[in-house]
Amino acid sequence: MKTIVIGGGLVGVQTAYFLLQEGHQVTLVDRRDNFALETSFANGGLITPSHAAPWNSPGIFKTLLSSIGKKDASIHVKLSALGQYLGWGRQFVRNSTKSRYYRTIERNFALARFSQQCFHELLGEVPLEFSHAKTAQ
Ligand SMILES: Cc1cc2nc3c(=O)[nH]c(=O)nc-3n(C[C@H](O)[C@H](O)[C@H](O)COP(=O)(O)OP(=O)(O)OC[C@H]3O[C@@H](n4cnc5c(N)ncnc54)[C@H](O)[C@@H]3O)c2cc1C
Repeated sequence: MKTIVIGGGLVGVQTAYFLLQEGHQVTLVDRRDNFALETSFANGGLITPSHAAPWNSPGIFKTLLSSIGKKDASIHVKLSALGQYLGWGRQFVRNSTKSRYYRTIERNFALARFSQQCFHELLGEVPLEFSHAKTAQ
């Protein structure tokens, strides 16, 4: 099958790679002059499942309410933008119960471990040169 992948960041490049591995004909395009020049460019460089906790921890609704009008709040709620976030915001708060929060952490962690495993398998297949150091399992 002929496939065009639009956007050559981390997700696009890997999508193109795995499609190629499955025998598809792939064209990877990007609006920039080269690939991985946006979010994927020189980020923190951490390959770890340590950021599994979502931002909507239990109590987030109270935190959001109390941050209204405070310029130094950790999460800044812009009243003028509230309308745009109604649908998304409702889901964000709805999923902040204790049980949903911990279930999301477990799922995020499992996904991150799987991704980490794929990444290490990929390193065995493709000779990538970068300052990679593995410090723990
Ligand atoms: C400061 C910072 C530090 C981070 N540190 C880490 C870290 O330590 N570890 C970690 O795992 N993650 C980290 N991340 C997150 C990680 O970098 C991103 O999740 C990842 O790079 C996102 O990749 P992406 O392919 O989705 O997006 P991008 O890398 O942004 O790729 C999207 C591509 O699509 C292209 N594009 C967009 N619109 C169009 C269009 N209309 N037509 C054609 N091309 C288009 C863009 O040019 C870009 O190349 C960090 C992020 C930031 C911002």
